[in-house]
Amino acid sequence: MTRRSRSSRAEIIERERKAAEVVAELMLLGAYEVAASVLRCWHNRLFGDPRQHRPRCRSVCCFSCRRPSLAAWWRSFVAWSRNRGASCYFGLLLADPLVELPAVAKRLRNLRDRLARDESWLFADLALFGITDGSTLHILVSHPGISRMHVQKRLRILWPKIVLADVPTSPSFELSPKMIAQLGAGRRGLQRARFVVLPRRDASF
Ligand SMILES: [Zn+2]
Repeated sequence: MTRRSRSSRAEIIERERKAAEVVAELMLLGAYEVAASVLRCWHNRLFGDPRQHRPRCRSVCCFSCRRPSLAAWWRSFVAWSRNRGASCYFGLLLADPLVELPAVAKRLRNLRDRLARDESWLFADLALFGITDGSTLHILVSHPGISRMHVQKRLRILWPKIVLADVPTSPSFELSPKMIAQLGAGRRGLQRARFVVLPRRDASF
């Protein structure tokens, strides 16, 4: 057995252990139907015939369906942002990202609107996208027409120590089993793990 296949076997075991933990958390939250659909999808992935169509559950709780969704959101926003011009990235460490995420998005939108009104209309074009991995909120900033240093200076009004960096291809998106179960049991699912602040199109500043 090669070193590579040993490590991928360890990865599979770890993934299955985590998936079982998510199902247990869902049971504790009383989300039995979600747990059942995840188990069905899990069974299809592990034992189904790969040559045949194996329907996906697309649940945030499914180890096989979750990461492609999160990664696809990130990639599409990165591609959209690249088309517009300059982009950059920063991460925020949060104690409880699911609770804090809406407030962070609101603070960013308010700052962007205030800067567009009081400093330069160029800020109306600033857009932000955030997604959490359970402890860090990964934020992508699309800032056509404004330099990264200038955006950093203004964002430091909210977080004095942040440093804007190049955009990573894809953050890890390793959510904890407890957080995955919380997202799966709620009505908004994975949507709660992200925010989008689109550029302002109106001129009502
Ligand atoms: Zn699935």
